[in-house]
Amino acid sequence: MSEHTVLLDVQHLQTYFPIKGGVVHKTVGHVHAVEDVSFQIREQETFGLVGESGCGKSTTGRTILRLIEPTGGKIFFDGQDLCQLDREAMRQKRRDMQLVFQDPYSSLNPRMTVRRLLEEPLQTHFTLTQKEMNEQVLWIAHAVGLSPEQLERYPHQFSGGQRQRVSIARALITKPRFVVADEPVSALDVSIQAQILNLLFSLQEELKLSYLFISHDLNVVRHISNRIGVMYLGRIMEQGNTESVYRNPLHPYTRALLSAIPKLDPLEEKHRIQLEGDVPSPANPPKGCPFHDRCSKCMEICKQSVPEEKELEPGHRVSCHLYD
Ligand code: SF4
Repeated sequence: MSEHTVLLDVQHLQTYFPIKGGVVHKTVGHVHAVEDVSFQIREQETFGLVGESGCGKSTTGRTILRLIEPTGGKIFFDGQDLCQLDREAMRQKRRDMQLVFQDPYSSLNPRMTVRRLLEEPLQTHFTLTQKEMNEQVLWIAHAVGLSPEQLERYPHQFSGGQRQRVSIARALITKPRFVVADEPVSALDVSIQAQILNLLFSLQEELKLSYLFISHDLNVVRHISNRIGVMYLGRIMEQGNTESVYRNPLHPYTRALLSAIPKLDPLEEKHRIQLEGDVPSPANPPKGCPFHDRCSKCMEICKQSVPEEKELEPGHRVSCHLYD
């Protein structure tokens, strides 16, 4: 683990969405998108949040940035409780906390040139002269591998990989300290994915960034993350140093996910753990361990009580009754 100080400290985060029903459009229930999520990210560290689609990882990222309001829990950034900030203070804080989207095409205004797209966040967060703004735009364009000529083009004139470079430049031009990267390479060809991952990695070194890297792809997460958290139905089931979790997965869900990664040796395929059933609905989460109705190791206690998180080796924590 990085020896740097903690930058982000998420404690028991909850995000529920109301379900409306009936003729008067009353709240008839809640989707428990994020149920109880706690983790820390240190300065210049990448924390990978991994899990199947719908497990709550993107909602976790957006709630940390308060693009979605949390239902409960605390979010400390550089020691400050973000939930206590009013709208204006939070708007200013976003200069330090940015988001890179999966689909850059939908997040970039098609009527703006790249130059305008890059100037916009500078105008929102700083008071700069045109000369200073030009310098910043040229600096970030160079840092992400865009030429000065490309600044005068529109998003539709770029390939998917180049558009993601624009999107990264737009997120980083305010020199944030923390970036939520939400499936930033999932929409790209495999050959381009490595280029964008390497770019994120080199920018992290140059700008001393911390990342929350969200992905369903365990190979991608392993490549970029110092530590990972495995999410299921709004909770982190296991977290620890990336190598420790990949080498010695403790939670039955992590084991099943890792066993499903295609192996180079076809004979290894026989060790694949087949997950039975579907992910339960977050509108009606099961009692006890959220994984119990798909777990081959399920015991009676698993159906009754949610397992507490336990640290089994330094920094490697798991929520499972097998380790009570
Ligand atoms: Fe399986 Fe029980 Fe562990 Fe849940 S707590 S993962 S059901 S063994």
